[in-house]
Amino acid sequence: MIDKDLYATILGIRSPWSVTEVTLSRSDEEVSVHIALDPDAPLQCPRCAAVSRRYDSRPRRWRHLDTCEYRTMLVADVPRVECREHGVLQIFIPWAEPGGRFTARFEGLVIDWMKEACITAVARRLRLTWDEVDGIQARAVARGLARRRRRTSRRLGVDETSFAKRHEYVTVVTDMDSGHVVHVEDDRGRAALDNFYSQLTPQQRGAIEVVAMDMWEPYIQATFAALPEADRKIVFDKFHVAKHLGDAVDTVRRTEQRELLEQGDRTLVGTKYFWLTSSELPDGPRAERFDSLRTSTLKVAKAWHAKEVAMELWCVRRRCEVVQDFQAWCRWATRLRMDPLRKVARMISSHLDGIVNAVLTGVTNALAEGANSKIQWIKKMARGFRNRQRFRNAIYFHLGGLDLYPACLFLTHTKA
Ligand SMILES: [Zn+2]
Repeated sequence: MIDKDLYATILGIRSPWSVTEVTLSRSDEEVSVHIALDPDAPLQCPRCAAVSRRYDSRPRRWRHLDTCEYRTMLVADVPRVECREHGVLQIFIPWAEPGGRFTARFEGLVIDWMKEACITAVARRLRLTWDEVDGIQARAVARGLARRRRRTSRRLGVDETSFAKRHEYVTVVTDMDSGHVVHVEDDRGRAALDNFYSQLTPQQRGAIEVVAMDMWEPYIQATFAALPEADRKIVFDKFHVAKHLGDAVDTVRRTEQRELLEQGDRTLVGTKYFWLTSSELPDGPRAERFDSLRTSTLKVAKAWHAKEVAMELWCVRRRCEVVQDFQAWCRWATRLRMDPLRKVARMISSHLDGIVNAVLTGVTNALAEGANSKIQWIKKMARGFRNRQRFRNAIYFHLGGLDLYPACLFLTHTKA
């Protein structure tokens, strides 16, 4: 009923393998393509290629790309050889990786779909179990990492990202030039970044010019321990500084709003987002209201103004000028007598090198941050991860720039 030659051709089965039988099970909605090895073909050890004696053979099945929505299985008895040096091993199968239950082409299809959709959706559409899809992802990542030759990165971004809903984190290192995640490590302690640096050669460490990060002491310490002249290489991201300032403004607002409400004054009610924006608001009643608020004598208005001034210091000029300007800002912000602002001023003055480096290099951690937001998307798509290994795999899978596909010699589209 089904043409063996047709399958041999569209599957690209070549000598010494041939299609011996094709069967169809309507009840199981399954096509089975039986493949056999020429009994006269010499058998080679998969490790050293020495022609070896047939030891035995074992029946194997692999899921391949569907035929008109029928699940399609390749079926073959696969010989094992007895190599003098390597013992009993299954011969090399050109359409699947050793031990795999899917053909390389099928795994490639699953990998393509996983780039578009979550594991649950891919499993449903391709009639696989969740664990099967997850296994294909894990193998793809292991394959990609094994193939990867670590490039020398000049500019790195380090960021933490939360894992699941608990306060657990992973540390993610991004190459700012390629945009790829180069390392994912458990936790956000010093050891996380120490481990990354320790995997680099002294040359690779020496080639690093910039490491962008949040003002996070463990990352700073790890970088100082690993890199020469780290004080000129660590860059504290502009947007992190902006965030600390924004948070300070918000804390000032909340305290002040509480105090005002106790006196029945609702001036600050509903203004939270006014203070989170920068100076420009589109014209309209909102802009007018904000204009009158920010020129008021409210504490939050002063804090907001201090934040805006700090952000204006972010333009390139001589190092000593940048240093002086930030020092002057810190003194001024401290004199405003608002604890949240004073705290940020202290933070800026104790991390001044990295801030000045950021101003002078123009480097931001936006790329690592971009990776972080993609990671949040990955997390959302997966509805949380049951373990860190899976989380790490998913990050590498989507953001590692890895060569994920299994090598496939047969079962490609034959271009005879
Ligand atoms: Zn061998």
